[in-house]
Amino acid sequence: MDCIEKLLQGLPLQASEFIHLIENREEYRSVLQAEAAAKTKQFFGNKVYIRGLIEITNICRNDCYYCGIRKSNANVSRYRLTDTQILQSCAEGYAAGFRTFVLQGGETQTDYVPLVRQIKKRFPDCALTLSLGEKTREEYEALFDAGADRYLLRHETADMAHYNRLHPPAMDFSNRMRCLKDLKEIGFQTGCGFMVGSPGQTPETLAKDLEFIQAFRPHMVGIGPFIPQADTPFGAQPAGTVELTLFLLSILRIMQPRLLLPATTALGSIEKGGREKGLLCGANVVMPNISPMFARENYVLYNHKLYSGAEAKEGLAILQQELSKIGRKIVFERGDYQP
Ligand code: SAM
Repeated sequence: MDCIEKLLQGLPLQASEFIHLIENREEYRSVLQAEAAAKTKQFFGNKVYIRGLIEITNICRNDCYYCGIRKSNANVSRYRLTDTQILQSCAEGYAAGFRTFVLQGGETQTDYVPLVRQIKKRFPDCALTLSLGEKTREEYEALFDAGADRYLLRHETADMAHYNRLHPPAMDFSNRMRCLKDLKEIGFQTGCGFMVGSPGQTPETLAKDLEFIQAFRPHMVGIGPFIPQADTPFGAQPAGTVELTLFLLSILRIMQPRLLLPATTALGSIEKGGREKGLLCGANVVMPNISPMFARENYVLYNHKLYSGAEAKEGLAILQQELSKIGRKIVFERGDYQP
């Protein structure tokens, strides 16, 4: 049986088969896109889930070579939203119809348990997703017990040598993988993911990413193109492509039809219409920004990041118009993973 048939039948692929698909994607693109679109329709109809993204801090103890908020970047004006500001963002998001809030930020020692409790108490019908980096198992357990429902932690790459090319020696591949395992065991709806086109990425490292996802079976996967940020060590590296991102989105949708798969801000930022293309290739989630404006302006992971118009809560009507052109519609639901 060839690898396309295996993929379409839901059978696991080997690394060499993923490499074959990636290297010959011109040949496979249209069949995989059509199948991914059919699977999305079968499992989700025309629904697109929205998540209100709050960028709670750009302070970070890590120094990832690709990231604009890395601790060594002195050109960032650092901020941390107060609990009151975060709750206000949630209230505004709630009024706009959001029923999932995503708190994302740089990695710090801050204890977010009291904040999680407050959000869940004030908005009991909402899901809360955290994306706050690596923590101990006990810290994750405390956040889960406080009511957090989901956790996003991109693994960044499933190849250890590649991981070490993207991160300084203080960051440890095995700890990141340990975090993901703990998160899933604790009971979070767990998301992993990676940048497409990060420096040093090859079909071989991508095949490891897909093999990892195939075995780990996350509930969410965030992938988007790498986009250089001028003040980072990778500031002069080429960006990843929309084309490869879309191809990988299609593979992910076929591999795991129930996945929550965002059309990421990076995909929308790198090309006009990128988000819609992502939705046509298997994505079913968008994450408009509901942070206060000063936070959006300073949460600069990469250059030319979108945070207004259809990428923000003020632009939900524009987003709906754009989605209706591709036969999709925003739904105001929690949008949990359905096993
Ligand atoms: N600190 C948390 C963590 O480590 O998961 C969340 C914040 S981190 C900035 C969120 C994600 O942004 C990272 O996982 C990374 O994949 C993505 N990111 C960072 N720099 C990027 C860049 N230059 N281009 C595209 N995505 C980037």
